[in-house]
Amino acid sequence: KEELNIIQGALELRTKTVEDALTPLNDCFMLMSDAVLDFNTMSEIMQSGYTRIPVYENERSNIVDILFVKDLAFVDPDDCTPLKTITQFYKHPMHCVFNDTRLDAMLEEFKKGKSHLAIVQRVNSEGEGDPFYEVMGIITLEDVIEEIIKSEILDE
Ligand code: ADP
Repeated sequence: KEELNIIQGALELRTKTVEDALTPLNDCFMLMSDAVLDFNTMSEIMQSGYTRIPVYENERSNIVDILFVKDLAFVDPDDCTPLKTITQFYKHPMHCVFNDTRLDAMLEEFKKGKSHLAIVQRVNSEGEGDPFYEVMGIITLEDVIEEIIKSEILDE
């Protein structure tokens, strides 16, 4: 029974898109690019429990960097290091995909191993003005796997 479910989930990767599996931008834990890595900010990061944290400038839809929690290994909260110092040092590449990317293609991308988190954007052509790219949220390998097994993976 369970195997059948998983097979069905795997087959559905061909019809579902990243839009069906993403974590919406509003639910993302993110940091402002001008944040300071003091005790408060670092506690919040630790409490969030996430390993990768998008960094935005001015507005949440403008993601400019990704902070990995392991980047903080040598950061002393007493130094009040600007977040920018860390992100500019590591410069992790950001991986963007469109909302209509199929989940099987997304899985292949993740398997290549560059990054297991991608930023999902769409072309917004509603309204009067010119179409523009709009960030919808983030997707990780775990989101794709959850679509295969069709249940939530509880975090440690
Ligand atoms: P982590 O290693 O941080 O637990 P995973 O890649 O295992 O992240 O993803 C677990 C779930 O958390 C997924 O649904 C993913 O979309 C979501 N997620 C990952 N990073 C963040 C973040 N910074 N804010 C909100 N949700 C996130």
